[in-house]
Parts: sequence; structure tokens; C-alpha cells
Amino acid sequence: MSPKCSRRDFIKTGAGVGVAALIGGGKGLIGQSPAVLPQSAGVMRVVASGNGIRATEKAMDLMAKGTDLLDAVIAGVNIVEDDPNDMSVGYGGLPNEEGEVELDASVMYGPTHTSGAVAALKFIKNPSKVAKLVMDRTEHCLLVGEGALKFALAHGFKKEDLLTDRAREIWLRWKENLSDKDNWLPPKSEKLPAEVRQAIMTYGTINCIAIDTKGNLAGVTTTSGLSWKLAGRVGDSPIIGAGLYVDNNVGAAGSTGLGEANIMNCGSFQVVNFMAQGHSPEQACLKALAQISNKTKLTPRRLNAEGLPSFGLTFYALNKKGEYGSANMWGGSRYAVHDGQKNELKQGAYIYQAKR
Ligand code: ASP
Repeated sequence: MSPKCSRRDFIKTGAGVGVAALIGGGKGLIGQSPAVLPQSAGVMRVVASGNGIRATEKAMDLMAKGTDLLDAVIAGVNIVEDDPNDMSVGYGGLPNEEGEVELDASVMYGPTHTSGAVAALKFIKNPSKVAKLVMDRTEHCLLVGEGALKFALAHGFKKEDLLTDRAREIWLRWKENLSDKDNWLPPKSEKLPAEVRQAIMTYGTINCIAIDTKGNLAGVTTTSGLSWKLAGRVGDSPIIGAGLYVDNNVGAAGSTGLGEANIMNCGSFQVVNFMAQGHSPEQACLKALAQISNKTKLTPRRLNAEGLPSFGLTFYALNKKGEYGSANMWGGSRYAVHDGQKNELKQGAYIYQAKR
């Protein structure tokens, strides 16, 4: 590249056309045409995890008024990020093992095939908005920790204490019951709320994906991640291909559940890939879960007494035709769908049914 042509110019002015021609022009392995599913006939759909019924409502409302679909799904999940009562996302999310709330989020925009993400972000309750700025206002895809915080502050986000009293009490109860060989003691009285008494490791996240009348697709995933995680742990939510993936020719997929199992199997990418092969969204979610279940057999500590995955993992999927579906490793999960008329929770498919 000549010194007169900066890297930025190279990317933005299309000076790389020779390279593009090399890759896409010929026949042979690299030149195979990618899958393109037929487009929806002007339908709008918004799909989210079970905690996202307010997000699907909001996103559909905004899309109907002409808001771009990525901004619409982000505004939808912001409701849950802001809600102190959802302890799996944003403000009020359960903290890491040191009692600090660390958030992960990603966005992906089908029309430009671009993404942005933040991980282990502290003090900013809407990581999804910061992820969108990473996509729009940097050359990067993922910012983490201190760097992500500095970036958010540079864009005018305000630092806030994200640990609510409720989340702190649950964390403290967990900490006090961890070991009888340390110096923490649980309180003598058991008058604490049940959720505090039963503090266990939990997970939860919100994923929201959408298609607009032009057949464009976009998505967002945002979470406080696993409770009691090691400081600095990054889950699947901000990892493109794991917690979120969008291919504007095919569909969108996202996940909630045990991030580690998903990251190692590129779950959302697999779901979109299965849709590209012609599987329905629900079938695609089931196939990705079946693959993960098989691979998990190599990790005995993640198996239950029956030799099956001991964790929860759910995929949500939407294809270019506006068809949607969801599946969970274990039965019982619901997901939110707004089909342009109705906004409702639906039962997801599953791989295994827990014994009663
Ligand atoms: N997937 C999230 C993570 O691993 C947690 C969850 O969805 O429950 O961080």
C-alpha cells in the first residue's frame, strides 16, 4: 500500500477491490456462492429470550414507527438493563465473586455485516449502547474492561454503582456460605428473603433479534453473565458467533445459558449455518444444541449423573423469511415473539426433558 493511502482509506474507499475480486471472482472452493434464503414478504418480527417480552413490544413499536431495527432492539433490551429486578442483566445484575458487577454485550447489524461488543464492563448500565458505539465509532469489534469503560466515558456515559442492595445481599449470603474454613459467618437469623437464602450460581441474559419489512436482520445480546464468576471472565454474549450472529442473507441467532459451553462450539454461528442449509429456525437451534451435547461428553465435570449436559443453554433464531424458533438443552424454557400482531411468550423446543 502506498504511503498516500492510509489503512482507513483502503477500507473506506474500496481501494481493496483487487483483493475482493481475487476472493469472490473465480469459481472453485472460495468462489462458491453463499446461501441466500428467500426474503420475507414485508413481515416484521422481533424474537427475544423469555425475560424479553417488554423488549419485543418496545422494539416492534419503534420499528413500526420507522426506527432502524438495530436501534429498536437495543431500546428494547435497555428496558431490561435498566430494571433492578432482572438480576441477570445490567443494573441490579448479580456480581462476580468479588461483589462487582461486570457486564458483557454485543450487537450485530445484518445490512453491513458489522458488529460491536464490550466485555467485563463495570459501572455502565447499558453495555448494549456502548457495544453499538464500538461498532459505529471505532475500527474494532470488541473492547474489554478498563478500555471499554474509558471508551464509554469518552462518549459521555456516566459511571453508576450497578450493585443493588438486593444483589449485594444475595452475593454476601453466597460468600458467607462458601466454606466453613474461612472467617465469614452467615447471620443467625434466617429472616432473609428466600431468594437470598437460596443464593446459588445463576445465569441469565437477554437476547433480542429482529427482521424488518425490507428483510434486514439485526440483533443484540446483553448480560451480567454468570453470578460469582471470576473477575474478568467473559461469557458468550459479547462473542460474535457464540452469543450472537447475523447473516443478512440467511437469519439471526442468539443465546442465553452457560457461555463456556457455547463459546467452544460457536453456537449462534452454527444455528445460522444450519438455517443456511435449509433447516427451520427451531431445527437449527436443536441441531446446534445436539452438537454441543455431544462435545460435552468429553468434559465429565459438565455432565450429570446420567451423562447428559448439566447446564442450561438456549438458542433463539429468526430466518430471512420471518420464521422463528427457539430450543433449550433442557425442557421448560419460553421465549418472546412479536409477530407484528401479537406479542407473546411461546414454549421452546428442547433436547432433554428433566425427570420429575
Ligand atoms: N450466557 C451468559 C454467560 O455465559 C449467561 C446466561 O445467559 O445465563 O455469561
